[in-house]
This record gives sequence, structure tokens and C-alpha cells, in this order.
Amino acid sequence: MAEKIKGKGVIAGIAVGKIMLAGQNLDGYLKDYKPKSKDKEKKTAADALIKVAEDLKVSIEKLKKQDMQEQAAILEAHRMMVEDPAMSEAIDAQVEESGSAPKAVLDAYEAQAQLFEGMDDEYFRGRAVDMRDVGKRIAKYILGIKEPEIGEGKVIVAGHEIEPSVIAGLPSDKIAGVILGQGSVTSHAIIIAKTRALPAVVGVGDAIDRIGDGDPVILDGDTGEILIRPSDAERESYNDKIQKQEELKAHYAKLRTLPATTTDGTTVTLAANIGSPDDVDAANNFGAEGVGLFRSEFVFMGKQDIPKEEDQFKEYKSAVEKCNGNLCIIRTMDIGGDKPLPYLNIPPEENPFLGYRAIRISLQRRDLFIPQLKAILRAGVYGKAGIMFPMVINVQEFLAAKKMVEEAKAELVHEGKKYAEDVLLGIMVETPAAAVMTPVLAKYVDFFSIGTNDLVQYTLAVDRGNASISYLYNHFNPAVLRLIYRTIKSANDEGKFAGMCGEMASDPNAAIILMAMGIKELSMSAPSIPRVKEKIRNISMTRAKEILEKVMEMEDGQEVKDYLATIQAVDSAPAPAAATKSSAKSEEAPTAAKKK
Ligand code: PEP
Ligand code: MG
Repeated sequence: MAEKIKGKGVIAGIAVGKIMLAGQNLDGYLKDYKPKSKDKEKKTAADALIKVAEDLKVSIEKLKKQDMQEQAAILEAHRMMVEDPAMSEAIDAQVEESGSAPKAVLDAYEAQAQLFEGMDDEYFRGRAVDMRDVGKRIAKYILGIKEPEIGEGKVIVAGHEIEPSVIAGLPSDKIAGVILGQGSVTSHAIIIAKTRALPAVVGVGDAIDRIGDGDPVILDGDTGEILIRPSDAERESYNDKIQKQEELKAHYAKLRTLPATTTDGTTVTLAANIGSPDDVDAANNFGAEGVGLFRSEFVFMGKQDIPKEEDQFKEYKSAVEKCNGNLCIIRTMDIGGDKPLPYLNIPPEENPFLGYRAIRISLQRRDLFIPQLKAILRAGVYGKAGIMFPMVINVQEFLAAKKMVEEAKAELVHEGKKYAEDVLLGIMVETPAAAVMTPVLAKYVDFFSIGTNDLVQYTLAVDRGNASISYLYNHFNPAVLRLIYRTIKSANDEGKFAGMCGEMASDPNAAIILMAMGIKELSMSAPSIPRVKEKIRNISMTRAKEILEKVMEMEDGQEVKDYLATIQAVDSAPAPAAATKSSAKSEEAPTAAKKK
């Protein structure tokens, strides 16, 4: 019999594979680490230095054989940082203070990194990132966290917390599912997993430590159940579910080319949220009509340094081209919160979600912002592009960003580079301040995209990643619904369009009321598109408006949620089945996919 543990299923589906322990955020692991005597901890650290240096040597040789000289040189520098005698002395001194080998290692390398950061020489400043990387690598070795390594078969990635880049970095044919000790449906690791339709369970808590690296596991993303080392009989008991999963997939595939049109002819654009141009291919397979959110920060993450304008241009151009004439909205870098970027060297903050992040960084860092804007403007030549600014709280921020777009254009003119003049400029509405001010903001922007992941967290003062208060995190809370309704109305009153790119957009029950509110575009992790489309195609706008009226009278979020869950396919009249997306006609055709 397998050992069973349970969490919260956040991405449906059954995954079968071997566990790969991963985790870039070590806080949970450090908390659980039980240090021994100081002498033993010093020995643990010293042994780890030797082992990590040996492992690095092996990797360096492998890379050299594959003619990857640049990567080999980076690891060679890392090896020298591991073998530096001054570092082992510094670690011993830290063990005297904290008594914990992994913490001592992290602190010693952090202190050295900060020393580098203070230097005038740019080269040494750049090495601070490497120092932190090396510290983490050694600490992970002590804590028993494997560096992601892929062997035969598919893996299920598990960890207390996992940085999104870890999941993004694993090839699709090698990863089957995700388990998080912490986290919630809006953690970025899960958002990436959703883009790739990976079944996932979160909030397993410390039970995650009962899973060992390499353990065979069955994960049920519907029930949140995880079977560790299942027996043959247990495996077989899942065959039925796996078959049903395949049948549902086949059913959804049939919806791919049909429009998201209600039974009485209102059409909503269903677009995809992506983290890389490759995601557009998968999104197109699910029937996405363009991209409502390209999280460009993933272009910046997992790198050693700021990507150049030219490199960014290639990525954005590829995404725009793959949208085949549909709108591709590229959000400017949204770093901060739970998306750190080590090479920006932003000092730790008390409240990162309320701190130096997103547009606040971009407006202060021309060196980052202007090349990104230039890259997007240039990509616009190859299709329809939109630029969207994250975390805006007032008109001034939008106007300052717009001014920088003009400056970016001037530079492109000066350099003789082609760019699209008519790239749309919009904002994320993800702060209560922006939502309240949408009647004013709507005069200036081309579009709004409602980011409910943050809007819910800031409106309700509920951390989006905190599993212990997730019962309060509800996008149907009337306070949130009023802000959303206001935003959509403000846009429509000014002849602008409002879309949604937060996770709420992937909730079929939410789609009913959002449509009734007048939303023009819903953008979501692509695997959710068929479910949402099916719901829309089975309801009339008239009925949706009645439902909305009832919902807006309700005083409690749970009541709204429960009520919407009872709404089945209310209208029996079929949507215009033969119509394809391109031939669909509608009186209320969405403006989202149209270029102005
Ligand atoms: C949001 O906040 O709803 C959003 C889409 O942005 P992110 O999840 O990247 O913060
Ligand atoms: Mg956000």
C-alpha cells in the first residue's frame, strides 16, 4: 500500500512520475533543518564544499565535451568560489553564530556578495549574483535538495516552494506534475504549471518531507491526493480516471475552432497568458485567439544578466508572429513580489508585494525600460502588439510610462530601426487605486486588463500565496466584484476595451457574470480555454444578465460562488455550431482582437 498525503488540488488531472525534489526558496527547508553540535555542523559544511566542488568538476567536463565553453567557464568560476579557503573560514565563523551549517553557508556567501556589490568595478559587482548562486548550491546540497536533473521518464517536481523558472526550465515532455508544500493557485510556479496543463497539488505542508527524491508517485490534481510508492493494484485503480481524462481532452479538442459565442450571439475573445513565445504554439492548439498577457519578466528570469534589446526583440517578435494577426499584449517587466531577479540586486524588503516592483522599477530604471519598450515596438511590425504596464496606481504613472514609449520611438527613429506606430498602450487594473480611478484612467489608456490575482490580494488584504488564509481569497467577494464591474463599465463608457488576465478569467462560472458586465476579452492559461468556451456557448446573454443582477444583490462571496456553481447549461439552444472563429458574426463583436 502506498503512503498517502493530501493537499489542495489546484490543476486538475492525474500525473504519474518520479519525484524530483527542487526548490530555490530555501526558507521552508531551513526552518525544518535540525542542526547538530557546532563542530558537527562545521564538518557538514566542509564535506559539502568538497562534494559540491567535485560535482561541479564533473559538470564542467561534460559541458566542455559538448563544446559549451561559455557555460563551462561560468561553472569553473563557481568551483573556485567553492574552493576558496577564505570562504570555508567565513562559514566556520558563521556556524559559531547561527549554529546551522546551511544557514552559515548562505550567510557567508551573502556577505561576500554584498562586498562585491559595493565595489566600483562592474565586473566584480556582477559576480555578486554568482556568489549567491554558489551559496545556494552548497546549502541545497546540505539540505538534501537536488539540482533539477532529468533522467529517464517523466518527473513530478516537488518542493516547499519552487521558483517559477525551475518549472519553466524543464522540457514539456519531461515534466508530469507539480507538488508544493506552500503556495496557492496564484503562486507563479502554479501559474506556469497551468500554462502547461500540469496537474498540481499545493498546501501539502511539512508532509512534503515524507516524499523522497526519485520516489514513484501518483498525483490527483482534482482531489489533492498524492500516493507515494503506489502498488500495482493502486496504479490500476487510476486507469479509469486517466481514460476519462483522455476522453475529455478529445471532447475539448472539438471546440478548438469554434467561437466563444453565447446562444444569442455575443462573442468574447478568449486569449492566452504566456511566459515565452513557445507557449503560443500550445495556446493555439487550445484555440487561443491571441495573447492577453505575455509575462515578459520570464524573459528576464533565469539569466545571468539583463537581456539585450536585440534578444528581447527576437522573443517578442516570435510571440507576435505566432499570434497570426490576433492581438499580442506584452506586459512590461513585472519583477518583485514573488518574482525576484537576483541580478537587479534589490535589497530584501519587509513587504515585497507592496514594495519596489513592476512599473515602479521600470520608471526609475531607464536602462531596463527603454530597451524593453524599443524591443516591443519593433516586434509590433510583425503583427498586432499591445504594451501593458503592471501595478499602475495613478494617471501620472501611466503618463510617465507613455512618455518613455515616445522616447523609445525617438531613439528608434534616430537609429533607423523600423517600429509599429500603432501599438496599443494599456494598464493592468490590479490595485484598488487603479480600479477606483478607472473612470479617469479610461480617458488616457487604450485598454484595461484586470489582474485579479493581485486585485483580490490588495482589495481583501489577503496574501495570494498564503495557504493558511486561502479561504478568504475569493474573486467573488462583493468588494472585488464591484471594482471589476466599475472597471469594465469605465472602459466601455469611454469606448475602450476591458479584458481580464487574472486567474478569475479561467473560471467558467465567473465568465458568465463577466460577460454580462461587458468584458470583451478573457485571457487565461490556455488549457482552461475549452472549459470557459463551453460554458459561454451554452448560455444566452439575456440569462447571463439576469444572473449578474442576482449576484450583485448578494452580500457574501461564498454565497455568490455557491450560487454560480448551481448554474448548469441553462439554455438548450445550441450556439451557432458551424461557425468558425473567423466566420462568426456578432452584434457585439469584441474590440479586443482589433487593432485601432
Ligand atoms: C494578476 O495580478 O492578476 C496578474 C495577471 O499578474 P501576475 O499574476 O503576474 O501578478
Ligand atoms: Mg499582478
